[in-house]
Amino acid sequence: MRESRERPIYLDHHATTPVDPRVIEAVVHAMSVGFGNPNSTEHFYGVEASEMLESARHDVAALVSARPDGIHLTSSSTAAIRTAVAHAVARRAKKAQPLRIVASRIEHAAVLNALAEAERAGAAVVRWIAVDHQARLDMDELRRECRSGADLVCVMAANNEVGTIYDTRAVCQLAAETGASTLIDATQAAGRVDLRFSEWGATYMVLSAHKMYGPKGAGALVTDAGSIPRSEGTPNVPAFAGLGEACRLRRLEMNEDEPAVAGLRDRLQERLLNGVPSLVINGDPKARLSHSLHVSVPDVPNDVVISLVRARVALSTGSACHSGALEPSHVLRAMDLSPALQEGALRMAVGKFNHAAEIDAAAEYLSSAIARARAML
Ligand code: PLP
Repeated sequence: MRESRERPIYLDHHATTPVDPRVIEAVVHAMSVGFGNPNSTEHFYGVEASEMLESARHDVAALVSARPDGIHLTSSSTAAIRTAVAHAVARRAKKAQPLRIVASRIEHAAVLNALAEAERAGAAVVRWIAVDHQARLDMDELRRECRSGADLVCVMAANNEVGTIYDTRAVCQLAAETGASTLIDATQAAGRVDLRFSEWGATYMVLSAHKMYGPKGAGALVTDAGSIPRSEGTPNVPAFAGLGEACRLRRLEMNEDEPAVAGLRDRLQERLLNGVPSLVINGDPKARLSHSLHVSVPDVPNDVVISLVRARVALSTGSACHSGALEPSHVLRAMDLSPALQEGALRMAVGKFNHAAEIDAAAEYLSSAIARARAML
């Protein structure tokens, strides 16, 4: 294990979040006292564990305004997305024809991969909806594509790179008008923005505990569509207890926490704008996740900046799956950012456990690292 002294300031909350100590308590309780096998319901211990899963389903459902019996516990959002796409493919009305999918270009790799697999198997055809330079969805194009025939519409609730929030209520309405199902990837939005699964008439929604101060290895597929296969093996009760507690806390606290988090993000943004000449803020400033701050420093390669600050600040060049890869981000390309802005892109997201002094220090470290990088070029 790494030494806990002098750990860098954590500003990568899109990738994952630290676990809330109250969630850790729930996980440890489920792992120690509540160790029973939820499938062994002949006795107290099994019933207790099974009740923990039931309680987790209730808490997930309450967070996204869905019915508890529509909550299917999964190991991740990725697993939930795969199950949703497989389910939509399996229940398509015309089995001889591929599922007609309409999806935004800026979906997460978990969605892109699931769709590509369905296409490769000949079970789906995907049409893509463009976004503008702030990653906003072209709703007119979406409307046209739905009207020209679609079975499934995939739009994320908020983007994991630039933080743009989508009007998924309007997307669900559009899809319903044209008879299409919807898959809403709410992995980044859940616990940060108001989501109303049942009221919107969404078909599938997915979320993940580790993006909202919960443990890794626990997510959920929300759907009333029925006949979802149960995941195999003995359920990971501690992780799901953590998912439930994370959702319960977000439901109770997000309305208070998120404005405070946005305050920290705005503080960081302001200090960077003051400290870094020609800094550009990416994403939609009018509809952006409260914790997101995606910037570009034109012509300063982001990997140079990251290597200069890595001992002090943890941030990234893009989504977790792109970090370390040489491939440019598909999101920034879809936004049609200039090569200079793509090359200088830095993704940050603050969290509720960050405090103002850390934000100020991080802004200082980053501003001076960028100045040094510029001097080196
Ligand atoms: N969808 C979005 C928007 C994400 O940000 C992520 C994780 O980065 C995922 C899906 C995948 O989530 P998980 O790690 O739970 O598989």
